[in-house]
Amino acid sequence: MTVGNHRPAQIVIDQKALYENISNAKKHLQPNTNLFMVVKADGYGHGAVQVARVAQQAGADGFCVSILDEALQLRQAGIVDVPILVLGIIDPLDAMVAAENQISVTVGSIEWLQRAEQVLSDLPNESPILNIHFGLDTGMGRIGFQKPSELKDAINYLESNNNHFNFEGIFTHFSTADSSNTDYFEIQKQRFKEFMEVVDKKPKYVHVANSATSLWHQYGQTNIVRLGIAGYGLNPSGREIADLPYQLKPAMSFTSKLVYTKYVEKGRSIGYGATYETDEDQWIGTVPVGYADGYSRNMQGYYVLVDGQKCPVVGRVCMDQFMIRLPKKYDVNTPVTLMGTSGNETITADDIADHLGTISYEIICGFSVRLPRKYI
Ligand SMILES: *Cc1c(COP(=O)(O)O)cnc(C)c1O
Repeated sequence: MTVGNHRPAQIVIDQKALYENISNAKKHLQPNTNLFMVVKADGYGHGAVQVARVAQQAGADGFCVSILDEALQLRQAGIVDVPILVLGIIDPLDAMVAAENQISVTVGSIEWLQRAEQVLSDLPNESPILNIHFGLDTGMGRIGFQKPSELKDAINYLESNNNHFNFEGIFTHFSTADSSNTDYFEIQKQRFKEFMEVVDKKPKYVHVANSATSLWHQYGQTNIVRLGIAGYGLNPSGREIADLPYQLKPAMSFTSKLVYTKYVEKGRSIGYGATYETDEDQWIGTVPVGYADGYSRNMQGYYVLVDGQKCPVVGRVCMDQFMIRLPKKYDVNTPVTLMGTSGNETITADDIADHLGTISYEIICGFSVRLPRKYI
């Protein structure tokens, strides 16, 4: 994918904000709890390697990713001697690659162990050990063992023919930790307890907490927090739970510049489909960003900030450009804030998410790699 280094549009990452969010999270952990920064999806769009480096300085003890390639990317960038856990299910055929790179993987079935065992047995001498974390489905319904008896069988399997696996961790994931209603959270917590009753010898890591769990819940005897969205400075609940034990500072903003401005007479149309018609003479500016950059076509009707003022997006957002109404004449190269602060106005990822009917997570990881990431 081409990176647009020669056009005025970029995702700006405030490394100090990242650092503060992560070190504050770390300070609020129980003693002996590890902070694993979740850097899946290119660090939620912030750049996985750069986030990982800042996170290490801020006290992160390890990383979580979703797919094996994301783990390998960190290793190749020199992030070695630090635990990395793949939260998704990898292909057992890749078990050797994971083991060779000391990448821990999630396991949710005996079949997976059996198939990985075959792969790891192909090189009987010197075959590296694969670190595994058993995933428990306590109610998320995504991946993991569904019943304590299934978990028990998998543990027995390891005990009877384990030459290749190290039972390093066990974990679950809450589906409603970001809600003010805690009923379902409590059900999941109870099921986790029942699972843990069949584990005679606890592995090194036991973990249940994502950002929301770490911010708002008591979650018992565990020793990793998997910190995602809060590390990036966003509230996991959107606006539902406003109470926070420490301040979150959004690390990402999105800026561009006007590339074209013009005075348009009343009665002219703007953009594909001619959906906007000037109802009076007005100034119109063009921003060189479009839906190919992850700036949704549905941003029509929303606004950006120019010189601290809200300027409506007029007409349809094109693939690579869109138009805005300016309150007065502005020159080419005037800065435009698509997300972030200009003067006294701020557009947050949650504001954009609300407009688009989604959550901030989808906004920040949806900006395409064509937008260069600038680190400040
Ligand atoms: C993505 C993810 C996290 C991080 O979630 P946040 O809400 O961003 O903190 C933690 N655990 C698992 C299993 C995940 O998939």
